[in-house]
Amino acid sequence: KNADAALSRVKLQGRNNYKLYHPAINSQATELFILENSLHHALERQEFKVYYQPQVNSSTGEITKMEALLRWQHPELGLIPPATFIPIAEETGLILPISEWVLKTACLQNKSWQQNLNLPSLSVAVNLSARQFQQPNLVDMVEQVLSETKLEHKYLELEITETVAMQDVELTRKILKELDQIGVTISIDDFGTGYSSLSYLKDFPIHALKIDQSFVRDLANGDNQTAITTAIIALAHGLNLAVVAEGVETEEQFNLLRILECEVMQGYLFSHPLSSEEATRMLRAYHPI
Ligand code: C2E
Ligand code: CA
Ligand code: CA
Ligand code: CA
Repeated sequence: KNADAALSRVKLQGRNNYKLYHPAINSQATELFILENSLHHALERQEFKVYYQPQVNSSTGEITKMEALLRWQHPELGLIPPATFIPIAEETGLILPISEWVLKTACLQNKSWQQNLNLPSLSVAVNLSARQFQQPNLVDMVEQVLSETKLEHKYLELEITETVAMQDVELTRKILKELDQIGVTISIDDFGTGYSSLSYLKDFPIHALKIDQSFVRDLANGDNQTAITTAIIALAHGLNLAVVAEGVETEEQFNLLRILECEVMQGYLFSHPLSSEEATRMLRAYHPI
């Protein structure tokens, strides 16, 4: 019964496309119930880990930024991808303490890389959720974490999706302005997938557009598939914004993106998301002191 309630709540949120994660569990409702219950304890039981994926400058080869990506290692079910548990965390409000932990962990990690690997200008990007964006104390929380971790504000980038940004344009404008005033940078994630008007781009204090991986995937598929990516890059350049291509997997995509003058890229071609230890090793080898 509880399981059905959990399922119907998630369905009310419009997530009818929920797919079973674990093959041994044969009902959506049961799986959601199990996941929701264990999610309540996951933080205190230290089951979360932050992974990091590099963003590479395509002309210099330099790693300029690491994106923090959350991982949940469930004791019985194994590694659960964020696409499965983040909707549940959003629904239950657990996303708030979890996100604060991610932010803090990522800022501490970046500060440590800056100091210990002599990478003073390395930045970190952290994803913001829809629910966080509705919190009146979001900016205070970010400031608090930055002062606790002593990371200089300009080395933190917050990623919001176009969909989240467009839910309440006035509120977004206000929050982004405050974040900009404290020196944090902002990028628009999954750009091009939100079916939104482009007019907000000139009003919001944003720093970069991240081209959604669906467009990058199309790049290698022949005729006319470069049109959207070409347009997004031109738009970004025209507005003086940086542009990042996500999901770059092949050299063909890399070469096309370079011709299109996309300066920053992220994807499996360079590196999968790495654990803290792996990322430290990779950064040390990549930028020998
Ligand atoms: P996103 O922010 O768009 O992150 C990019 C996703 O693409 C990541 O999936 C990453 O592992 C994956 N990816 C990177 N390079 C490639 C590639 O070359 N090819 C392909 N096919 N995929 C690539 P991941 O880590 O499973 O995260 C999925 C989504 O979950 C993220 O999408 C983001 O929306 C959300 N997410 C992850 N961590 C957090 C977090 O800490 N907070 C919040 N609010 N959301 C998060
Ligand atoms: Ca992102
Ligand atoms: Ca994205
Ligand atoms: Ca995405």
